[in-house]
Amino acid sequence: MPSVIYHPAYRNYDFGKHHPFSPVRVEMALDLLDALGYTVNPVQPEPATRADILSVHEENFVNCVEALSSEVDVPDSARYGLGTRDNPVFPGMDEAARWIAGGTLHGARLIEQGERRVLQLGGGLHHARRDVASGFCIYNDLAVAIRYLSQRGFWVAYLDVDVHHGDGVQQILYEDMHVMTVSLHESGRYLFPGTGDIHELGSGPGRGLKLNIPLEPFTEGESYLETFEKVMSAALGQFRPGVFVVQAGADAHFDDPLADLMLTTHDYETLFNRILHLADTFAAGRVLFTLGGGYSLCAAPRIWAMLYLMIHDLPVPERLPAAWCDRWSRITGAWMPEEFHDPDLCYRPVTNREEIILRNRHVVRRLLDSASHYWV
Ligand SMILES: [Zn+2]
Repeated sequence: MPSVIYHPAYRNYDFGKHHPFSPVRVEMALDLLDALGYTVNPVQPEPATRADILSVHEENFVNCVEALSSEVDVPDSARYGLGTRDNPVFPGMDEAARWIAGGTLHGARLIEQGERRVLQLGGGLHHARRDVASGFCIYNDLAVAIRYLSQRGFWVAYLDVDVHHGDGVQQILYEDMHVMTVSLHESGRYLFPGTGDIHELGSGPGRGLKLNIPLEPFTEGESYLETFEKVMSAALGQFRPGVFVVQAGADAHFDDPLADLMLTTHDYETLFNRILHLADTFAAGRVLFTLGGGYSLCAAPRIWAMLYLMIHDLPVPERLPAAWCDRWSRITGAWMPEEFHDPDLCYRPVTNREEIILRNRHVVRRLLDSASHYWV
């Protein structure tokens, strides 16, 4: 039976009313599952300890988060990426971020104890670097969990399907030969955080194990999934993971207001199916999913509710419950479709799709050419 991890304290990870990284997105997904008749019985984690956080972050940075969290002024807080527009300071943010990290770490512990499929209904804070908060991310829950697993002998394949490059996870684990990272994202030439080029391949013993696929803006599902298949089949043939850790950001969806990829909920369903299949094939089914970005209130809750259904081998329903649509349309003002999946032809067709497909194929060829030099 898969495990789902969640705690009401996750709701305290909240940068304020007008910030896109709102806890309401997860609340909507939970409420959707409830409206569909599924009772989510989550495992409740503990917050990560200071020592857990220090396994991947610098002490000066943690000191700064703690001080600001207790409303103590830190004159050079901007140096640590805090008090910025993306990461405004809020009271209790250290504890809130430790709850999130503790949830993902708990997922790693469950995998260690023999669980196969785990879904952490939060986290995925992949931009947090060793000593800098960034892109709505304070503590890097993913790196904490991956380090925990790799220190216990697991070879970890980290797969990041958030539309933004997983720069923080990559930075923290750049030299780690026990961790392969694969990030598919909209090219940093167009989108935050600006990194994730094919030449960022890792260093030292980790060289050749950090793979980046910068995709063209307006990439549709067909090209995205083709790219995913090519890179994953080459990479996993080389690196035989014992577990997958997946950052399942929902912001590659076409309706996302912060980015420009064009995936539909059907594409996400195919993608999640493929990931579950790869986990079965390579890692005895062991996979830990977290959430991540995903700022369309119409899309993200459906995508994450679908992920819950899929890891439980439950069918994706045809229709959305009307009462759920009415309630959340009223609360958020977001439009909701009548069906669970996106309607057909729900966006204007991309005019240069052939050119985008060819460019993405070229990127994959160049990436595999460069990385395979380090694969023996
Ligand atoms: Zn994102």
